[in-house]
Formats: sequence, structure tokens, C-alpha cells
Amino acid sequence: MKKNNSVQKAYRGRFAPSPSGELHFGSLLAAMASYADARHHNGAWLLRIDDIDQARVVKHSAQHILDTLEQCGFEWDEKVSYQSQCLHHYQSALEKLNQAKLSYPCTCSRKQLKALSDSGIYPGLCRHKTQHDSNNKNSAIRIKVPSERISFIDQIQQGYSQILSQDVGDFIIYRRDNVFSYQLSVVVDDFQSGITHVVRGYDLLDSTPKQIYLQQLLGYPQPQYAHIPLAVTEENLKLSKLSQAKKINCTLNTLVLAAHFLGQNELDNNDFDNIDDFWQYLISNWDINRVPRMEKQVIMV
Ligand code: GLU
Ligand code: ZN
Repeated sequence: MKKNNSVQKAYRGRFAPSPSGELHFGSLLAAMASYADARHHNGAWLLRIDDIDQARVVKHSAQHILDTLEQCGFEWDEKVSYQSQCLHHYQSALEKLNQAKLSYPCTCSRKQLKALSDSGIYPGLCRHKTQHDSNNKNSAIRIKVPSERISFIDQIQQGYSQILSQDVGDFIIYRRDNVFSYQLSVVVDDFQSGITHVVRGYDLLDSTPKQIYLQQLLGYPQPQYAHIPLAVTEENLKLSKLSQAKKINCTLNTLVLAAHFLGQNELDNNDFDNIDDFWQYLISNWDINRVPRMEKQVIMV
């Protein structure tokens, strides 16, 4: 169900699934937390399909995800956006960074880098290169990172910080296979949609300083961040990585289980006659402070 709501809201949240499979329990959690938090604050809630990496897109997955969300009773505002239709925005952001000489082409192969170090931190081999050195279509583009600490307060995980030069190294904003990186595209998307609050999974906590840094370079405002714990199996497997992380069934049971996982413990299946009742209750009683401050929690699947 789409609500047509053109009024500009002070709170604008979003859910941004990658269309690489069905909506599983892990993504339901991110959808629920972002939705309940937005609606609790009388905010707008937008949907974006993160299909920048076309090689990973599974046919019909986006439609399945939207159908499942609708069956679960989510109502979104505005038109669903697709990263694949926003390439011109990423291109202009990339050009802005290139022109400011904040970026450089890199032709290092993964193998070459692995041989140098196992840390995954880029050692800056190509830092001296300029855009003019890049006649080669096969180069990635990296952004030069600073040695100052980047800190922010996560609404669930509390204080988090990184020194990008030590913890990450110059990172890729444009891939050598000609795809804009996740870090660049997500920052541009959140800005273009006027997102004020990002509620998503813990796996993206360590991407946040990179995103804040890009926001600073591009002159974008910084949204408020909240990272919910990941749902893992007893064997410590992340649900989204499981091949059997199957499509969820939108029953009241599933929704109540998800709400419990998010620390909204007082809900009981028996309290509700239907899904609409559930949402009404969850939205008015939602409290982000009750979401456990944890990296992950075990869920029985
Ligand atoms: N598309 C990303 C994912 O499914 C989420 C992006 C984000 O929330 O920033 O992991
Ligand atoms: Zn390089």
C-alpha cells in the first residue's frame, strides 16, 4: 500500500533492500525498525531498491520484496526509487570529488594487494596518480582519506569512531568493473531523498564513518544513524548469508517475533486481532532505546 503524502516531513527514514533474493527475517527487522521509528515520529518512510550492482540482482526479487512488504502491512510514501535509475547523480558526485583532486585512479589488483598485506587496508600505492594517468578504462577510483578520527553517536550502539587512514585506507568509490561503489551511491541516495534518519543492520556500522566522510566532502548534511543487531542462527550464521534464509510468511507470529527481537517485549500475539492492530500498537509504543545494544542475537529459524 502506498500512501501519497507530498508534505515535507521533518523526519524522513528509509528501507533500502538489495534485490538479491527474497525478503528474509533479517531484512524484515531492518524494515520494521526503520518503519516503526519513522512512523512513531510522524515521519515519512521511503523505499529504495539498491540495485546498483546489476550482476548481483536476482530477477523478480525487487517485486517479491515489495509484495512481501505490502503483505506485512508496511505502507510507504512516495515512489519507490531504484539506484539503477540514479546513475547521473552518482556521476556528478564522482566528478565533484575528482575535480577537487580528492580521488585518484587505482589499477592495483586484488591479488597484488593481498600479497602486500592481509589487513585489507589499502597501502596507498596509487596515491600519486592523477585522473590524467587514467586512460585506462580498467581502473578503480579511490578517495583519499584523512588521519583525523571520525566519530558519531549511534542511537542504539552509542559512540563509534574510526580513523579512516588507519582503519580503512583510501577506499573505492568507483569500481574497476564500472560500477559506482555502495559507499558513494548510498550517500548520494540518502542526500537526494532528504533522509534524516538511517536505521539499518549492524553490518553497516563500520561503513558509517566512510559515509560521513563522503557527506562532509560533498557538503551533505549527516543523518542520524541507528544500527540494529543482526539476527544469526545458533551456528552464528548471518541469516542473509544462508541459502535457506527463506522468504518470510507475514503472519502476526512473525511480526511479533520480530518486534521481540527489537526489544519491544511487551507485545503478545494474543493482543491483536489482525496485522493492522499490531502496527498501530507497535508504532505508538515504539521505543528505540529498548533495541538491544548488541552486534547480533540468536534467532531460531
Ligand atoms: N542495500 C543495503 C543492504 O541491503 C542497505 C543499504 C543501507 O541501508 O545503507 O545491505
Ligand atoms: Zn592502486
